[in-house]
Amino acid sequence: MKCKICNERFFIKRSILNLFKEEKAYICPACYKKYPITINYETIQLDIYKAMIISLFKTKSRIDYNYFFKEYSKVFLSLYNNGVKVIFLDDLKYTYDFYEYLDCISKIEKSDIVILCFSIKD
Ligand SMILES: [Zn+2]
Repeated sequence: MKCKICNERFFIKRSILNLFKEEKAYICPACYKKYPITINYETIQLDIYKAMIISLFKTKSRIDYNYFFKEYSKVFLSLYNNGVKVIFLDDLKYTYDFYEYLDCISKIEKSDIVILCFSIKD
């Protein structure tokens, strides 16, 4: 397979247990090491409720984050199975308007909210 980030060819290790299973991978092991996924939590106190921000990467890189959809969907499913209201964003930037929107959404939903994003812009 060809890595979608660095365009290098790579192979998935096979054993007798997964010899005939088709597995797709988009990112090579070297790129997984180069762009490690570190799930970061941050909680913001809104007017009444709270907003929890979960980002998969600490800093914004120039890579296409869509190839990390397996990890993203695992985090989403763990939140979804717990009945959490989740907002999806690619990148997040803290602005005054952003806090206002979060406050409005939490008041409309009448609950705490969780924002799942790939990275937070400085
Ligand atoms: Zn790669």
